[in-house]
Amino acid sequence: MNRRTWLQGLFATAAGSALSGLAGAAAAPQAKDIDAMQKNWRTLLAAGVNTPAPTDKVKLANDEWRKRLDKTQFNVLREEGTERAGTSPLNAEKRAGVFACAGCDLPLFTSEMKYESGTGWPSFFTTIPGVFATKKDFHLLYPRTEYHCARCGGHHGHIFDDGPKPTGLRYCNNGVALKFIPKSAKA
Ligand SMILES: [Zn+2]
Repeated sequence: MNRRTWLQGLFATAAGSALSGLAGAAAAPQAKDIDAMQKNWRTLLAAGVNTPAPTDKVKLANDEWRKRLDKTQFNVLREEGTERAGTSPLNAEKRAGVFACAGCDLPLFTSEMKYESGTGWPSFFTTIPGVFATKKDFHLLYPRTEYHCARCGGHHGHIFDDGPKPTGLRYCNNGVALKFIPKSAKA
């Protein structure tokens, strides 16, 4: 190999890694992508599905909630319980679509906002805007930020600050508190 061929080879390798570096950067979501996900969440909603607004409040007595929800759902949504890690089929849900509140059908997250956190609970790095209210809870010794549905008040999970960039947030959601609406029945 003469020096020229060697240099060309070196350049090709460098260009190759620069390109794969760029491709990697393009794959990671940027702040503007988060804005777009929040703004355009309806593009992941199945055709013909009518969804309520966060302002259209649902207030029911506990007896009514017990009729609507199964035992685990009632415990999580109305009593701030936590399902056992790894039990939700939604951990493995990878289809395009929307995750709505199991209590009141309010859309909360899209499939684009979900990521694999490895915790055993469905995890999201952002939400559809305006769908949650938060409060500090002291169920454990340290304060955690609990979040609940803005429409029905149902408890969904806790927010942690160890999520992926650019939000750095992890919405750790109980799977039983969610219902998944696939964008397409075929997907
Ligand atoms: Zn709700």
